[in-house]
Amino acid sequence: MLALLLAAVTVTTSFEGGNLGKVETVAPDHLRLAVKGQADQNGRNRQANWYYFELGNLPRGEFRFDLTELVGEYNFKPGSHAVTKDTRPVYSYDGGRTWTHFTDQQVSWNEQAKELTVRFTPAKTAIRIAHTPPYTNANVQALLKEFQGKPFLKQEIIGKSVHGRSIPLLTITDPATPEAGKLVIWWMARQHAWETGTSWALEGGLRKLLAPGAANLRKRFVFKVLPCPDPDGMAEGAVRFNSNGFDINRNWDAVDAATMPEIAAMLKTILDWVDAGHRIDLFLAMHNTESVDYIDTMLSTGGPELNALAQRFQRLLNEKTVFYAPNGPRDAGESTTPGMKGRKTVHQELFAARKIPAFLMEQMVEYHPRLHRLPTVQDRLDFGAALVDVLTEAVAPAGQ
Ligand SMILES: [Zn+2]
Repeated sequence: MLALLLAAVTVTTSFEGGNLGKVETVAPDHLRLAVKGQADQNGRNRQANWYYFELGNLPRGEFRFDLTELVGEYNFKPGSHAVTKDTRPVYSYDGGRTWTHFTDQQVSWNEQAKELTVRFTPAKTAIRIAHTPPYTNANVQALLKEFQGKPFLKQEIIGKSVHGRSIPLLTITDPATPEAGKLVIWWMARQHAWETGTSWALEGGLRKLLAPGAANLRKRFVFKVLPCPDPDGMAEGAVRFNSNGFDINRNWDAVDAATMPEIAAMLKTILDWVDAGHRIDLFLAMHNTESVDYIDTMLSTGGPELNALAQRFQRLLNEKTVFYAPNGPRDAGESTTPGMKGRKTVHQELFAARKIPAFLMEQMVEYHPRLHRLPTVQDRLDFGAALVDVLTEAVAPAGQ
């Protein structure tokens, strides 16, 4: 018995971003792992697609785990699940520094039970596994530390999360050049904690903006960046709701500082900026989804200027990046659930409140038709760097 216990595979989530539900041991080489998921303030819209755990004491031969309890609800439609037959978990043998996808041969999907099974032969005794390559508050702090003291990077804290974590706002511009002649881009990633790909893309963009080669861009543009709209979610391994269950990309039309301080702080900061007479030439909120890339804005109500900006944005994405949106920009409409309060996204509310040319961007986590692979960390970093060129050219077309 003692030998058996010593040999048992261990499961831990005691690190930033770690999360998993119930663990069930079927055999020494087979675990069933429930994905905990997260529901909203009313117990609805449960989504179960963030898991990040470490297995230790792994056996030498083939090992199997099943991811279970994946089915939830999306926009009040039951039965949806965001772990699919085509999502591939990532693994790390170096404590979360580098990540690789499990291969198609290692992964199988049970359509009846809606479970994803991974079979692999461990190369080491410990492995970390996650839905997509994790990116935590620690990553943001490490990046900021690299550029500490640079005069063109300013960091402010605009508010605190439910659990008291800081919500940073970064400003990147050349302070020696007056703001009057500059264009202004707001850039937000990671409203939804599971969508780590957006943080990697933002890091790629920030590295480009902070590099010596971007001196000219910093003379022409102001970048206002919100890298941690849900710092609790990033730390605690949440999915898409704040610690009180409020979806950080809904509720922008029903803001309450007591229950959703993150949204309240960000909305106030953005509206204060506009109301103090500053411009916003483009606002972008980045998201991840399963199987499609697209940008989305208020096409039907935004008028010719916003439509032209959307078309330019899309064309530049096609030309300069691997963005795959064959059907072009989408119309956001006025709400995700028309007629119901608390269902507006950041871009819907910013346009409704101040006619801000605001966009949502979705990027897929499954096999990417233009990359010809599952998107890697490097792919996200490269995309974010290229996105800086796309955004700046979209708002300041050559020759205008
Ligand atoms: Zn999202």
